[in-house]
Amino acid sequence: MMETCSKHPTYKAIGKPRSMCAACWAIWDAKEAERKRIEAEENEVSTMCYHPATDEGLRELAWNIATHRVFTNRHCYNSDEMLMVFPILQMMKLCDRKWIAANPPGLVWEFNAKACPAGVNGLPVFLSARFLSTEDLPKMEAYLKEAQETQQRFMKTGLTGGIPVDDCELEPIPGTGPCGDFYES
Ligand SMILES: [Zn+2]
Repeated sequence: MMETCSKHPTYKAIGKPRSMCAACWAIWDAKEAERKRIEAEENEVSTMCYHPATDEGLRELAWNIATHRVFTNRHCYNSDEMLMVFPILQMMKLCDRKWIAANPPGLVWEFNAKACPAGVNGLPVFLSARFLSTEDLPKMEAYLKEAQETQQRFMKTGLTGGIPVDDCELEPIPGTGPCGDFYES
């Protein structure tokens, strides 16, 4: 007597692990492949790490933030907004997502120039992200403060090279001034 599928008694079993017809076996095989994929994903070990940034790199990042060339998670109002801006954080490999959850970065950032052509709710969307470690963050913040002070000094001073205009002892050149009057000789 022909061995039949345990679910479909009118179909011939094809002699795979259990008494299954070809259709049942295809479903079982797909489920088994998915189970193995999940198992492998859960056992995978992340190779992520935060490379210590160079002093020069931190200075550059600070200046790029001060001059609005870089978008960071701190420009986001909350974590939902951060995930909208950096959807890559949800698309990473499971082991990498777990590693980041266990080792939260100090800063998530990317160059504005790398934003997708279309944003969401007035915010940019990036398909990549860069990380700054919590160790490097305070140093970068100090450089950022410095950069912002430089910008403010620039706004306050004119031709006097960093000395506030009111304290400057130089006689103003006739026809010129810190307000930006046009001068012609
Ligand atoms: Zn069957």
